[in-house]
Amino acid sequence: MSKDRKQIIKKIQELEKQSISLDPDVDERKELMANVSEFAENFLTSLNNRPVFKNCENEGSKLLNSPFSDESEPLGNILKSFTDNVLESGLNPASPGHFGYIPGSGLYYSALGDYLAAVTNRYSGIYAASPGAVRMEAMVIQWFAKEIGYPESSSGDLTSGGSIANLSAVVAARDAFGFKAKEYSKLVVYLTAHTHHCIEKSIRIAGLGETVIRVVPVDANFKMQPESFVQMVKHDKSLGLIPWLIVASAGTTDVGSIDPLVDLFEIAKINKMWFHVDGAYGASFVLCKSGKKNLKGIEDADTLTMDPHKGLFAPFGTGVILAKNGMDLHRPYQYEANYMQDEKTLAKKDQMSPAELSPELTRHFRGLRIWMALKIAGISAFRSALEEKMLLAQYFYNELQSIDRIETGPFPDLSIVIFRYVPQEGNPNTFNQVLLEKIIKEGSVFMSSTMINNNFMIRMAILSFRSHLEKVDQAITIIRSMIQRIEN
Ligand SMILES: *Cc1c(COP(=O)(O)O)cnc(C)c1O
Repeated sequence: MSKDRKQIIKKIQELEKQSISLDPDVDERKELMANVSEFAENFLTSLNNRPVFKNCENEGSKLLNSPFSDESEPLGNILKSFTDNVLESGLNPASPGHFGYIPGSGLYYSALGDYLAAVTNRYSGIYAASPGAVRMEAMVIQWFAKEIGYPESSSGDLTSGGSIANLSAVVAARDAFGFKAKEYSKLVVYLTAHTHHCIEKSIRIAGLGETVIRVVPVDANFKMQPESFVQMVKHDKSLGLIPWLIVASAGTTDVGSIDPLVDLFEIAKINKMWFHVDGAYGASFVLCKSGKKNLKGIEDADTLTMDPHKGLFAPFGTGVILAKNGMDLHRPYQYEANYMQDEKTLAKKDQMSPAELSPELTRHFRGLRIWMALKIAGISAFRSALEEKMLLAQYFYNELQSIDRIETGPFPDLSIVIFRYVPQEGNPNTFNQVLLEKIIKEGSVFMSSTMINNNFMIRMAILSFRSHLEKVDQAITIIRSMIQRIEN
């Protein structure tokens, strides 16, 4: 027995020696931090000199030439491998020239919040474990809710992104009505061809794959037509179907159009339907005056998706789901578990936990990255940045008009402009595809494209906090010169 004990202790001590490297001491930490911090500085200060998009032959595959080993590697080598294999290919969303898709940015203040979230590793899933962390997240959510115009009784959760927020909305809408599985095939969802694809994905994930999905026609500005929506609801009722959910987009991903929220809500209300607004791209614009005006009616959403990693410039991994009636988000996610029994005695419960408002239990402490950024920068900086993006889009739209043979989409509701060049001869789609390739290859700006009524359209989406007038002017100059180059 005692020999066993000695042996065990000896073994434990050996293992302790081997595992101690998981816990660097103060000097090692300082050195690591200094190196990583310098690396980050070099990255940030060189942002303007790096191409926004870069094709690279190996596309990071050389990572695999250096598999994980039992031995520790020097940080210098590790950072070099990160640079060569990750930073040297593909899109650079941190760049001020990123105007493709929906730009993300990556606030530095949030990065500091992430660092502290990881180092302190507070448990933000459950109130009893960290009342402060949960309150901080709740404070962030209540701030969003207030800006939207939601009542205090609303609730919400910081998700990993807009897709998961939309999934949560679909689940909340499903459970609010208490439908039985045998009714699922009678439920009808209304959306448009411009609704983000993750909504249909969410419907399937939520077990509602059998529901009927109606694609409501859009008008010339790509907004859902309320008259068509009414007609379709009427028709579906006459067929014995149950109009259940309407998904309005507050800023479509494709062209940035805001569906007529006020009218759609009226129709939804009369027909006792769930009104979800997908504001992953656009809802953050409520923070600025012009955006708030264009988003009128957003406050009537039963559930609302926002995406701070788009419209609040946060690093990737932060979405928001809000429910106007707080219980609607709690209903699908309430739980009891024996191993959680301490929770009730550890802390007074006047604050709902994220674990009761989402499918997650243990999770990233996302609130800190938003809280830090709002605190350090102050809210007015965000309001100004968003107003600036809207004006930049309008400016870009107007500048395009001065280029011969450019055709634009609608005047921007928010910060996306679509356009194409119509060449004197030849296939316009081919021309614009080549034009976009040339723009991207030049390296200073990045745009993406979409197909609208079989026309290849180039998309300019302005949403990085680093994109300012100079960059937009540069984009115009590059568009002009690339058109000339192809035409000659
Ligand atoms: C980006 C986007 C989504 C998806 O959000 P993720 O954060 O990428 O998961 C959903 N809806 C709209 C309108 C979007 O723009």
